[in-house]
Amino acid sequence: MRKAPGTNFAGPGRPYGALTLPPPAWPMPRLTFSTAQEMALRLTWSAHGEAQCPVCRVPLEARAIPRPAEVSYVRTLSWLTCVQCGRTVVADDPKTGR
Ligand SMILES: [Zn+2]
Repeated sequence: MRKAPGTNFAGPGRPYGALTLPPPAWPMPRLTFSTAQEMALRLTWSAHGEAQCPVCRVPLEARAIPRPAEVSYVRTLSWLTCVQCGRTVVADDPKTGR
């Protein structure tokens, strides 16, 4: 087997297959919605007061985010969480919308 000089960069005993990406730093990376998915969820939530995970097709669990009493102009937000995949999105609470 002939080899052109200067092509075996990996060197002996170190095949090219070993030059792969290292494993992720965290065993379970946090899943997130895409920007488009977040926008769609916010629209659905503010219109209907309910939304489902576009990935898992299960209803999102909503939790109200308490707003500080000294800041009266802050909108009430809901923290929507998918119990299946753990993705979260923050959306306006439709009950307080005017
Ligand atoms: Zn999900």
